[in-house]
Amino acid sequence: MVPPPGRRALVASGRGTIDERTRPVNYELFMRAALAEASAAGATGDPADGAVAVMDEAMVARGRDSRRSTGDPTAHAVIQAIRGASHRLGRGSLAGVSIFCVVEPCVMCAGALLAADIDGLVFALADPGGGACGGRHRILGQGVSGGRLRVVSGILADEAAELRPDLAGIATEGAAGS
Ligand SMILES: [Zn+2]
Repeated sequence: MVPPPGRRALVASGRGTIDERTRPVNYELFMRAALAEASAAGATGDPADGAVAVMDEAMVARGRDSRRSTGDPTAHAVIQAIRGASHRLGRGSLAGVSIFCVVEPCVMCAGALLAADIDGLVFALADPGGGACGGRHRILGQGVSGGRLRVVSGILADEAAELRPDLAGIATEGAAGS
């Protein structure tokens, strides 16, 4: 996917943070890609969750939940995207990379985001049953993790809720960016 021309970098170089000025276009652009992955996961009977890894306005990896179809309990969308990005970039530290995913990451995925040195996380729907960004636990987000990993939520929450009716009730209330 080619990012729109003339936009500023989504993620600044090095240990920069997400550039708020690009939010209206680019956040939705990349979240739509994550939604497409989630839809594909749902079609195979897996939990409808998808994720993409983004660096310098370009997608470097995509992932989808495949825990049921593969029998691998760790095959969550965020994990798949992190593995793909690490493979593609040829490094274990993913500083400069942001992850876009549909559902608020769980404890395992939040730990992986920290372990991979990810800069930013953008998700659509809160998960009060298992989310680790304030849904059930607070491993990532405001006031934790030294504040380096920037978290934004509620992007395309309405569209995500159509894929995840189990989380739809929370989408409207939790949609405000945090
Ligand atoms: Zn997870």
